[in-house]
Amino acid sequence: MGFSPGDPVIVREVWQGKIWTVRALTIVRDEPDLLVLYQPAGAPWKRPHSLNGRPIRLPDQPWQLHDDAMPEDALRLILPGQAHSVLLIWRKQWELLCWYINLEEPFRRTPLGFDYMDQTLDIVVEPDMSSWRWKDEDEFEEAQAKGIYSRKQALEIRIEGERALERLLFRKPPFDERWEDWRPDPAWAKSAIGGGWHLAGQS
Ligand SMILES: [Mg+2]
Repeated sequence: MGFSPGDPVIVREVWQGKIWTVRALTIVRDEPDLLVLYQPAGAPWKRPHSLNGRPIRLPDQPWQLHDDAMPEDALRLILPGQAHSVLLIWRKQWELLCWYINLEEPFRRTPLGFDYMDQTLDIVVEPDMSSWRWKDEDEFEEAQAKGIYSRKQALEIRIEGERALERLLFRKPPFDERWEDWRPDPAWAKSAIGGGWHLAGQS
């Protein structure tokens, strides 16, 4: 089993059995030791809003999903079983904005794609890797205070981040490849991304 390059997949964040986000992504590589997904600028996604219509960032209240579009091109590299993804995010004209370590539950395969859940804390690394910083530490603290993560989980998440950062900065595999120079197969624009398909529920 497994997906082929160019296949459209549905990637969902799921919190306690309830869908938190839905993204429409494209398979770049699906191998036992590396999963790579492409998110084109403008890709549709569904994101959580409070019941009175405000975007929310933590699953500490009831929510409903609203349609939105991803602003930037991004490539997402996942080492199966590990509790993070590394994203490259580009501005227009393929100007690399940053490397982004997203801490999260390991991806789980589903018939249509993958499920996981974000873990709030992130690391942003400069395009040339000259510096880096934690992102959303305050929200991570808030999530701990609200009982979304235990102290032990929070510590594990932070350690995972440090491990992931070391792997990236030392350009250990798969970061020994020049992912900065990756570009989508032009043939995909017609089939998977631009033309033919949409998230369920959209017309
Ligand atoms: Mg995150």
